[in-house]
Amino acid sequence: MRLRHKPWAKDKLDQHPQFVVANPEMHKGNWHNVFEKNQPLHIEVGTGKGQFITGMAKANPDINYIGIELHVSVIVAALDRLIEADLPNLKLLNVNAADLGKYFTKNDVDRVYLNFSDPWPKSRHEKRRLTYKDFLKLYEDILVDGGEIHFKTDNQGLFEYSLTSFSAYGLLLKYVSLDFHNSGYEGNIMTEYEQKFSEMGQRIYRSEVKYQNEK
Ligand code: SAM
Repeated sequence: MRLRHKPWAKDKLDQHPQFVVANPEMHKGNWHNVFEKNQPLHIEVGTGKGQFITGMAKANPDINYIGIELHVSVIVAALDRLIEADLPNLKLLNVNAADLGKYFTKNDVDRVYLNFSDPWPKSRHEKRRLTYKDFLKLYEDILVDGGEIHFKTDNQGLFEYSLTSFSAYGLLLKYVSLDFHNSGYEGNIMTEYEQKFSEMGQRIYRSEVKYQNEK
């Protein structure tokens, strides 16, 4: 993603503490206090401009959502959407997913969404892929037992890598689609990248995987 420098973006996030959580480490183990209702929490890692997470929060008022995005110049667009939609069940976090363990603990999260994650195609960058084993461990450490990762991408190489990584980690492959938009799945909410790539005729891949640590 091409990043445009927006020097005002950080101030804008700071001006909306009702939507952008300012001190996420304070809520570790108690995220339900941040929301109006105590209900399951789903997070999207690498939420971009927030089209997916805002659509999900509108469609599912009985679930709380957090969109996590590293770049302030990108998440500010998600904030604009959230200001407009004014949803009580969606918050944003401007942090690096590599630090998830600072902000969340076991059982805080019920599901992780990964959408169109950066592919990092060079093998020397494997550790940066959000489906690398170290990230799978980070997600495991904050999810409930039997928690799930739902993953969409247009990138065949990243999808194949991720299925192998999930499987090697011991995750159960619950659902795999190699042509998701022609799969008959109903109720899909598109991300910005999904919309852009599918309009260009790109095939979309999707999987749902589950941690097998239920007692
Ligand atoms: N999910 C959106 C979509 O499908 O339209 C955005 C996809 S974009 C290719 C990937 C996003 O993930 C970027 O906005 C990037 O800044 C974010 N990202 C990448 N690595 C991250 C990390 N370690 N922590 C948080 N966000 C990250």
